[in-house]
Amino acid sequence: MNYSFEFFPAKDTNSLSNLKSVAQHYVDTVKNIDFFSVTYGAGGSTRETTEVTIRSLLEFNIPIYAHLTTVGHSWEELSDLLYLYSELGVKGIVALRGDIPSGSGLKSTKSAVDLIDLISTRYPQFDIKAAGYPEKHPDSKYLKECIDNSINKLRTGASSLITQFCLNTEAILNFTNRVILESNEEYSFMNITPGLIPIHDFTQFKKFANKCESEIPKWIEEEFKYRDVYGNPTAFAKELFLNQLSILQNDFDHIHIYTLNRNLFGINLSTLE
Ligand code: FAD
Repeated sequence: MNYSFEFFPAKDTNSLSNLKSVAQHYVDTVKNIDFFSVTYGAGGSTRETTEVTIRSLLEFNIPIYAHLTTVGHSWEELSDLLYLYSELGVKGIVALRGDIPSGSGLKSTKSAVDLIDLISTRYPQFDIKAAGYPEKHPDSKYLKECIDNSINKLRTGASSLITQFCLNTEAILNFTNRVILESNEEYSFMNITPGLIPIHDFTQFKKFANKCESEIPKWIEEEFKYRDVYGNPTAFAKELFLNQLSILQNDFDHIHIYTLNRNLFGINLSTLE
């Protein structure tokens, strides 16, 4: 099983040093790390901190993927960033449209597919990943639009799609099967990478899930409510994570983990195989 680990850019020296020790923990405990990725604040809000974080993670000799969003950027600015990442030795790009920060007045007329097109034609040295939405993206009317858009991302040059976190494992399997079927088997399980999120703080997770319109099954919410008062929510979060991982490991050979810049409840992924 291969794993990739996503980090958000460190805001200051303390958080960078914490992020580096978390990255070291993954290097020490996981045999097959495919890559580390670093997110990018839409509109360029983390342009500098993303770069600093990428430079630090490059020291681990693990392939690095830079997330890049089109929102608020001209083609020239996107090209400048791609050139910089290429010079730094970044292996791949997670190509995204991004969300327009509310009240920013920013606009985006460029979709992820447009960015994938730019990268694959002008920067073929990069491997490209893109986002997939098993439960539908909030901007789409139907899941079918997301399936079609996903296939379009692959056809334009993305090697695989990393899914939005999704507690509903059936939805991830359905999404993957529909991409395979509707592309007439041009693509397979190899082209989809489930994204898994550890729930360190349920209240915070719920806000994030609501924003992304990702469903939280009622029984999970009820269990966290109970555990917050009487039990150990971390033990339940760990159980949930391991459960979803063990189901997905049957079909997929790569899992992407949204680390939230933290260790994974002390789980040693290499011992699970
Ligand atoms: P797109 O796929 O371009 O479009 C989004 C929506 O528009 C979809 O619903 C799609 O179906 C619809 N759409 C697009 N084109 C068409 C069309 N031609 N016809 C019909 N519908 C269409 N955000 C950040 O700001 N920074 C990050 O680093 C970041 N990393 C992420 C990593 C992953 C793995 C994921 C899953 C998401 C990430 N996001 C990040 C969030 C992402 O930017 C948002 O979800 C954003 O709203 C959509 O970006 P996208 O690239 O998926 O957009």
